[in-house]
Amino acid sequence: MTYQSVNPNTGKLLKSFDHMGRAQLEKSLAAADSCFQTWKRKSYAERAVFLHKAAALLRAHVDDFARLATLEMGKRIDEARGEVKFSADILDYYAEHAEAFLAPTKLHPKTGAAHMESSPLGVLFCVEPWNFPFYQLARVAGPQLMAGNVLVVKHAACVPQCALAFEKLLLDAGAPVGAYSNLFISYDQANRVIDDSRVRGVALTGSTSAGRSVAARAGENLKKSTMELGGSDPFIVLDDADLERTLPWAVWGRMYNGGQTCSAAKRFIVLDAVADAFLDQFKAALEALKPGDPMDEATTHGPLSTEAALAHLLLQVEAAVKGGAKVLTGGKRIARAGSFMQATILTDIAPDNPAFRAEFFGPVVSFFRVKSEEEAVALANDSDFGLGGSVWTRDEARGLRIASRVESGMMFVNSIDWTDAELPFGGIKNSGYGRELGNMGIQEFVNKKMVRSGHIDAPI
Ligand code: NAP
Repeated sequence: MTYQSVNPNTGKLLKSFDHMGRAQLEKSLAAADSCFQTWKRKSYAERAVFLHKAAALLRAHVDDFARLATLEMGKRIDEARGEVKFSADILDYYAEHAEAFLAPTKLHPKTGAAHMESSPLGVLFCVEPWNFPFYQLARVAGPQLMAGNVLVVKHAACVPQCALAFEKLLLDAGAPVGAYSNLFISYDQANRVIDDSRVRGVALTGSTSAGRSVAARAGENLKKSTMELGGSDPFIVLDDADLERTLPWAVWGRMYNGGQTCSAAKRFIVLDAVADAFLDQFKAALEALKPGDPMDEATTHGPLSTEAALAHLLLQVEAAVKGGAKVLTGGKRIARAGSFMQATILTDIAPDNPAFRAEFFGPVVSFFRVKSEEEAVALANDSDFGLGGSVWTRDEARGLRIASRVESGMMFVNSIDWTDAELPFGGIKNSGYGRELGNMGIQEFVNKKMVRSGHIDAPI
């Protein structure tokens, strides 16, 4: 398998790249290791210069970066521009705040003095997904480069041009060779990278199965890892919800990025009192979306990332129907060129249906009607995933109470503004462990060292 850039709007192969050879991979690892020896000694202010410059370059070339994402994985162009700008914000955020986040903190032992200090671990291996081909890279590069670590990165096989563009961005910003290296490698080579003694930590964002495999390998090597994995987030609509204002979030929450977001709203759990009205309006809104070229600003429904992703989603819907689910709308591929899936609503999904526990990574709604708030919380928690979720109600205090009871890493009340540079992102259960972004994100791959002094007399 090679790294292939295929336009999912047309199915046309744009470019392909071979896996690196053994010598090339060794060169990248050696460059990263050697770069770390000097990078770790640079001051925060020195590192920040590169990251601010990279952020400025991203902003100056928003359209070039955005077009690459749209070409390679089908993201609608306005969403792609938003992603590029947000990636710049993340780099700036860590350039500004890393020093404060990692500053020594005083401890208070009974005798003497003590403090905690933070130092970088070394070369980190990052495995990243295609669905946010720049943001996912910024989420690791911003904090980890500022912390003094250096990165070797395996991006997803379907976004090789985005992978190269981000590596070039950092070099153009003046980062030294080895600070950030893209690797076009196979899974076997990825395992060898994890085994390599120069690599000190592993961060993966992707599916639960990829997480299992990479985390196991990191575990065998006793290397720290973070796993940002899949989700099947509940979107809980209470009986007092303001439907008019909730509906646009439901559409956005399911359809943004073609429905291919880990923390997308995937299970719609709606109280009986408002279920019919919600479902009618949701169905009408989804049916009104306009499929088309994601480069065209007028398009509101783009393709899936790859033909394989579409085939997988169609099989999942077929299995759901075999298991007793009903298709209220959609369910099929769209009859046009490219890898397009109809916006789909599945209802009547019983607990023994494979769809009940699945993650649908595309425009497929799983709809559940419940009688009470208690039932809504129980259903929300009856999931193998625990990434995010949301509650919709006119009573914010009630929403916050329910948010506390849902077992997930993130909860949102009356909004699903999922991510900000300032806010930690991540999940529990099969959604993984560890956090990216915010202060927590930069703490994942540093040595938190306790230093005590001032106690020279021995106890005997
Ligand atoms: P994926 O198949 O797991 O791929 C993600 C990355 O992992 C790719 O670079 C992939 O490489 C690599 N990979 C997969 N198996 C591997 C293995 N055994 N060894 C080494 N590398 C391996 O995931 P996807 O389908 O592309 O992405 C969607 C998934 O990611 C969804 O489940 C989504 O929810 C999750 N996601 C989670 C977050 C979060 O923050 N929690 C964010 C975004 C996405 P190849 O491309 O070469 O196969």
